[in-house]
Amino acid sequence: MPDKIPKHELPPGSRTYKLSDPCQATVISNEPLHLKDSPDDLMHTVIDIRGTDYRYIEGQSAGVLVPGTREDGKPNKLRLYSIASARRGDDGKFETLSLCTKRVHEPHWDNADEMFRGLASNHICDLKPGDRIILTGPVGKHFALPADESMNLILMGVGTGVAPFRSFLKHIYEEHAGWSGQIRLFYGVKTQNELMYMNEANDDLEQFEAHANFRAYVARSRQDKQADGSKVYVQHLLRDNAADVWELIKDGHFSMYICGLKGMEAGIQEAMETMASENGRDWNAMRDEFKAQGKWNVEVY
Ligand code: NAP
Repeated sequence: MPDKIPKHELPPGSRTYKLSDPCQATVISNEPLHLKDSPDDLMHTVIDIRGTDYRYIEGQSAGVLVPGTREDGKPNKLRLYSIASARRGDDGKFETLSLCTKRVHEPHWDNADEMFRGLASNHICDLKPGDRIILTGPVGKHFALPADESMNLILMGVGTGVAPFRSFLKHIYEEHAGWSGQIRLFYGVKTQNELMYMNEANDDLEQFEAHANFRAYVARSRQDKQADGSKVYVQHLLRDNAADVWELIKDGHFSMYICGLKGMEAGIQEAMETMASENGRDWNAMRDEFKAQGKWNVEVY
């Protein structure tokens, strides 16, 4: 396994909050990430963790507990969200933690006449400055940056799956500033209206395009079209930019991260198989080796 960036930069006091003794924090702000024409509700929530022992690194997740009980009397279930800020927080002082959330309010999978309302996502999207939020964690160590700053990074995310990549990129460009490897972000959204952190509502990620070692490829599935008129997904961008990607991964000096919908994995696998075979290599053998070396990191739901 490659070394992951160590925790030595974190202030002392780090601890993992459990459900039995969670962290009580306060919301500082909760701002929309979508443009006004979007039917989606996408929020960037900044949480004050001053006075707590909550410390995290890029790629970790936080648990959010909605107060109250379910219909059967049991406590509401914990929901995990990838932390969208880098370790210093959006304030740069180790005092905040940010989340990126989409309000789930969609036709029920069992009965399309009924709407399903996600408890935790609605709770987070409705939070106002000054409200309390109950957190657990942080959890997760595998989805972390490699310690070797010359490694190339391929980041593939759809929708709110971009959250850990904002965290990575903020750390690399604003906190650490020594990354020499090449970085590619493949980012899939429905339309420009939902292009979080790369639109007029919030351009946190767009700014990093000024760095020579960073390039973002965006797939707007309901806006952009392939030559045959079908939707463009992140895996199609992978195929269209195969020469660039192959150059970065062929020697194994890279780390790849996939975050978002479960369905994207199969498309990425197919694109990688084609890319490898066009270069005379067997992708499945390469991927197994990369997995064993901790260079193939997947977090899909
Ligand atoms: P979304 O708004 O539904 O956007 C997803 C995009 O991916 C759309 O453009 C969609 O296209 C496209 N897509 C659909 N099927 C695909 C496939 N098979 N391959 C590639 N692209 C595909 O996304 P979302 O609702 O935010 O969902 C993101 C996922 O990330 C969720 O499963 C969430 O649990 C997960 N996640 C969230 C966090 C977090 O911290 N919030 C962290 C990690 C992961 P069309 O809809 O046009 O077909």
